[in-house]
Amino acid sequence: MSTDVVGPASLVEQLYSELEQKVHVLRPKDDFTQLEKAYRVASEAHKDQKRVSGEPYMVHPLNVTLILADMQMDLVCLETGLLHDTVEDTRVSLDQIRKDFGEEVARCVDGVTKLSKLHLYSREERQAESVRKMLLAMVNDIRVIIVKLADRLHNMRTLQFLPRDRQQRIAQETLEIYAPIAHRLGMGKIRGELEDLSFQYLEPDASAELVREIESQRQQNEEFLNKMRHEVEVNLSREGIPARVEGRMKRAYSIFQKMKRQKIGLDQVYDLLALRIVTDSVKNCYAALGVIHNEWHPIPGRIKDFIAIPRPNLYQSLHTSVMGPGGRACEVQIRTEEMHRLAEEGIAAHWKYKEGRKGPGVDDQRVTWLRQLVEWQKELHDPGEFMSTLKVDLYPEEVYAFTPMGKVIVLPRDATPIDFAYAIHSDVGNTCVGAKVNGRIVPLKYSLKNGDVVEILTQSGHFPSKDWLAIVKTSKARNKIKHVI
Ligand code: MN
Repeated sequence: MSTDVVGPASLVEQLYSELEQKVHVLRPKDDFTQLEKAYRVASEAHKDQKRVSGEPYMVHPLNVTLILADMQMDLVCLETGLLHDTVEDTRVSLDQIRKDFGEEVARCVDGVTKLSKLHLYSREERQAESVRKMLLAMVNDIRVIIVKLADRLHNMRTLQFLPRDRQQRIAQETLEIYAPIAHRLGMGKIRGELEDLSFQYLEPDASAELVREIESQRQQNEEFLNKMRHEVEVNLSREGIPARVEGRMKRAYSIFQKMKRQKIGLDQVYDLLALRIVTDSVKNCYAALGVIHNEWHPIPGRIKDFIAIPRPNLYQSLHTSVMGPGGRACEVQIRTEEMHRLAEEGIAAHWKYKEGRKGPGVDDQRVTWLRQLVEWQKELHDPGEFMSTLKVDLYPEEVYAFTPMGKVIVLPRDATPIDFAYAIHSDVGNTCVGAKVNGRIVPLKYSLKNGDVVEILTQSGHFPSKDWLAIVKTSKARNKIKHVI
């Protein structure tokens, strides 16, 4: 079947040659040998599998890898993209991947496989933050997250083929877990698309209505943006400020959120339309702001300097809103090329610096980035070091485990099933006689790992043993045990 030249196999081949071309253009120095090998191993492994859409399965890893190639990720990332579903879904073993592609690729494939096994969707909204943290805690190479986001993006783009209940679950998980992670990592482009796609499935009526409304104004909006863009270009070039100016419309899901939050109509969303000015230096960003304010009246309270004070995810730009042509409000965002790339690609853009595109300030920026990231993820001892070894242990003090019902229990590192039992309820702790982790009986002194599903076995009338005091890690468990014995 796979030898059929005009049949489905040709789509796979077509995608691979597209990938090769892309990598060739974007990363001319890369050696294709390993990439091609990853392609061969993955296509062979998936050759009898199909996606729900009826396409050969290999179409999926190839599309995921194309997304990664567009982000100019390195070869380890691209090979991981091609191989990311082999260990989970085929006979290919992690050892084989390690042997053929090396430790780094194996580590990344393993990371993506582990994430795929989790059911991250939580029924309780307040748990989402814990789940996001847990997910990051499980990752020891940031490329795992980048591949996982690309994987999710392609799955969301092809969600129409799945039954409705799975669409809902996946869209919900995307909106609760993956889009916020992309946001945290500064990956604005992926985040925007993930949110808009989820929105379509989770709120089909509201989404369709909003899209209709936006569509009905499109022509008018485009004319306005073109006119304003032209005037801005003329003004900037007169002042000798080199710039690329583009118009953009706020994305559907952010419009929806704003309308809901502020209980307003579409016509009252005054950052609906925006112009983006991309220039060559910070100095020219401020100069461009001056030009804009000189030409149009700024709306008070809408000027934000995210260059001097970046957002927590390191987003930088100047924002202002002005009364544009015809008295219509328009937001203007001003940034340098570099800020623009960081706004769109976030940590993926930082990742690229890692590979030796050296320049003044680049390392500093990377360290700043990590510091920010780490701040969100609580203390980490030496951020510089973890990036240099590519190891990420973002929550070294904590371990995240699940109840069989999917509730997340946060415990200190090396906590035991006994701590877990007491964290649920003191009666559960007191009557605990054993524990199963991921379906297997474990000793009570077992150290819980991130992502473990823990089931506590109890027997009424049972009492805690004095020996437990030597193995528990939480003061809650210790105090309860002392209280009873
Ligand atoms: Mn996949």
